[in-house]
Amino acid sequence: MALLLDGKKVRDAISKELQKEIEELGVKPCLVILQVGDLEESNAYISQKQKFAELVGAAVIHKRYEKDVSQDFIIADVENLNADEGVHGIILQLPIPAHLNAGKIIDHIAPAKDVDGLTATNLKLLAQNNAEGFVPATTKGVLALLDAYKIELAGKKVLMVGRSMLVGKPTALALLNKNASVTVAHSKTADLKKETLAADIIVVAIGKPRYITSEYVRSGQVIVDVGINLDTVGLKEEIPGKRKLVGDVDFDAVKDIVSAISPVPGGVGAMTVASLFENLVEACKRQVK
Ligand code: NDP
Repeated sequence: MALLLDGKKVRDAISKELQKEIEELGVKPCLVILQVGDLEESNAYISQKQKFAELVGAAVIHKRYEKDVSQDFIIADVENLNADEGVHGIILQLPIPAHLNAGKIIDHIAPAKDVDGLTATNLKLLAQNNAEGFVPATTKGVLALLDAYKIELAGKKVLMVGRSMLVGKPTALALLNKNASVTVAHSKTADLKKETLAADIIVVAIGKPRYITSEYVRSGQVIVDVGINLDTVGLKEEIPGKRKLVGDVDFDAVKDIVSAISPVPGGVGAMTVASLFENLVEACKRQVK
């Protein structure tokens, strides 16, 4: 069995550290989460963030808009929150309905409060390898997980599977900043198996349940599974409405082949929440200085 890259364990260590930092800071960092509509998955992510906030002593304000809200209405709220000294971080819970432009809304968030690291300013700072920016939470979580297990990136062949603005692209940049030789694969990649087999480390974020099977991997590799998918396959019995959380990697099929792997749940997902609050605490420190 491969070494388990245990995100929960690392998250728990980070949460203790954050608890201490917040106590010392003497200010309760406040995160505002903007949600449009009522997606079940988003509700689950938001409740994880609320629980983590409670654990470390931060505050979360959850603002929910109706599905048909206008873009201008949300942007006006963002501008008010930017000016509100009691708010240290603002995030837009994705996905949002198709009539809204996530990039446009996010770019109205003040970079100093953009703790998801998704504004053009923070993405540019990431591209420049400038530590003044906020690194997107999932990307930061992937790197922190590898770092916690002392997995060296410099000089390694790392394959990033997926090129979304939320995960794949920022993660590829961050890996490059760590001196990895990064290849990015996507849905138009001609021979994905050839690419995965050539890599030392594979980070997968494609949103396809158990897509990476035993044929895609070989011994000695490190696999980081970012995928979070709800799937009915694999349940002991089919229960209407009941689904199981699985990654983009077929964990059971590859766990005895590779040398290290992050599980789903309990891998990158756990790290993402912790990384978001690390960014929030840092944002708060900078704002109250
Ligand atoms: P997107 O749907 O935005 O992007 C998926 C990417 O995967 C695209 O670049 C797409 O290529 C690529 N892709 C799709 N199918 C294939 C394939 N068969 N072979 C190679 N590449 C493929 O998803 P996200 O990046 O937002 O999310 C990916 C996964 O990560 C999801 O399961 C999501 O739930 C999860 N996630 C987990 C987080 C965490 O905290 N752990 C946080 C955010 C997301 P193309 O560009 O060509 O279309």
